[in-house]
Amino acid sequence: MKLHNIFCAAFAISMTATAQEQVKFEDYFLPKTMRLDYYHAGDAKNEYFFLDELIEEPYWAGNKSYLVDGRNVGNHRFEVKDKASGKIIYSRGYNTLFNEWQCTPEAKKTSKAMPEGITFPYPKDDVIVDFYTRENSTGKMHKRWSYEVDADSYFIRKSRPSLSTIDIHYTGNPAQRVDVVIIPEGYTEAEKDKFIDAAKAFAEDILCYHPYTEYRDKFNFRAVWAPSEESGVSIPGEHMWRNTVLDAHYYTFDSERYQMVEDFQRLLDIAANVPYEIIYVLTNSQKYGGGGIYNFYGMSAANIPGASTRKTYSHEFGHLFVGLADEYVGGTEMSDLYFPGVEPWEANITTLTDLDSKVWGRLLPKDKREKAIDHSGWELNPQNPQSPDFNPKKAWPLGIYEGGGYLQRGVYRPWPNCMMNWFHRIDVYCPVCIEETKQTIELFVK
Ligand SMILES: [Zn+2]
Repeated sequence: MKLHNIFCAAFAISMTATAQEQVKFEDYFLPKTMRLDYYHAGDAKNEYFFLDELIEEPYWAGNKSYLVDGRNVGNHRFEVKDKASGKIIYSRGYNTLFNEWQCTPEAKKTSKAMPEGITFPYPKDDVIVDFYTRENSTGKMHKRWSYEVDADSYFIRKSRPSLSTIDIHYTGNPAQRVDVVIIPEGYTEAEKDKFIDAAKAFAEDILCYHPYTEYRDKFNFRAVWAPSEESGVSIPGEHMWRNTVLDAHYYTFDSERYQMVEDFQRLLDIAANVPYEIIYVLTNSQKYGGGGIYNFYGMSAANIPGASTRKTYSHEFGHLFVGLADEYVGGTEMSDLYFPGVEPWEANITTLTDLDSKVWGRLLPKDKREKAIDHSGWELNPQNPQSPDFNPKKAWPLGIYEGGGYLQRGVYRPWPNCMMNWFHRIDVYCPVCIEETKQTIELFVK
């Protein structure tokens, strides 16, 4: 699938995924959201953050015990520190479209800015927010910006819900659920029912695969109704432009199937109408395309019936929600993504630099690893499924198969094929993706 997340910088430092000291929600936060909007700017080599504004949003959907994320995930990380004590009271890893753009040829020729924003529980007292970005070649995080928030400032804009919302799959208290908000793009006022049907199908399609299906009652899916002036979506390569609520378009970074939104703040404005943690956009299009960026947003064309749409939703959700990498070879013109000697932070690919830092290392004991390495590559692997009754769970041992993260050599994947790979003829995740997905869900629902 060529509508994946084209990671720009995805390398790990040796921070462990163990729990960091958590703070008590009530000691530091109020049950609503603070949003810090900024412009993410620069070029291929330089990166700058510029303040836009602070916004108070009415709901906090997040788990109140999973505040500081001690995992080494994402190409960016932000940390919220209590100003008085210097203690880290909230943190998250995430990726951005801007970071991907920095790897494009255009970023070598010009500078650019994109609107972005982060959200965290509303602090009772003043806090300092530090922004970090991962360096491609070393995997290390570097501080890029720091902003001090005056929690009492009367300049904090108060945003209040103004759009109608629809419960698509509601199971209970957002604090113990994974809360997904579904946003429409390119649906006119008259196409509301069409969008709701697409949103229902989307929720079912996410929940139909293992391990999501075992957690059906741990997910909330809600939709916000935000109609567009015109029906359909913009396709620049076909000179087709539509007046739509998000201004999404195909040909992002001149890649035909990469349909994305550059103005993340518009998405945040619409999402804030419900309690949410994960944003997914369904577009009113029959042209295959979309993408998923870790802890940022996911997006797919919704009007293509059939199994490949279902798999695509799930694949992009794997990028967005779990931070899984693409396990396939090729599919992008980006280079310098994974370096020998630097362990990718994503759970499902490895350079064999530090497998023990991963779930994969725990599933595959050290004494079995050497035998598990398979250099035959994707095309040559004799275990490629050839018949419809092929059962990968029986046929494929968990291994270390060369080829992954777009590269033929030096990066390895856990199974010959997986839903995070090209997923032809299969509809299952490899054991590593399954375990990482389960652990991610548990963080949100405990
Ligand atoms: Zn996998």
